[in-house]
Amino acid sequence: MIPPRPHDLLCDATRPQLSALLDGSLDPDVARTLQLHLLDCRRCRARLAQERKLRVALARLRDATPAPDTLRERVSEAMRRAERADLEPAR
Ligand SMILES: [Zn+2]
Repeated sequence: MIPPRPHDLLCDATRPQLSALLDGSLDPDVARTLQLHLLDCRRCRARLAQERKLRVALARLRDATPAPDTLRERVSEAMRRAERADLEPAR
C-alpha cells in the first residue's frame, strides 16, 4: 500500500471538476486553478482527454439511438475502470 501523496489528493479533488470544465459550468477562478494543475499533471491531463473522448462517443451514440439503461451502465462501468487504470503511463 502506497499512502496518497498531497499531489494525489489534489488530483482526486480535480476529478469532479474535469467534467464541469468540459461542460463550461466551472467557476472561472476554479477553472484557472484547474488548468494550472493540468499543465503539470500528466495524470489529470490524461483523465481529461479520456473524459472528452467518452463524451464524444456518448454524444455520437445519443444522436444515433437512445441509449438503453444497460448501455449506460456499461459506459459508467468503463469510466470507473478507466479511472482505476489512470496510473498507467499515458501514451
Ligand atoms: Zn493531477
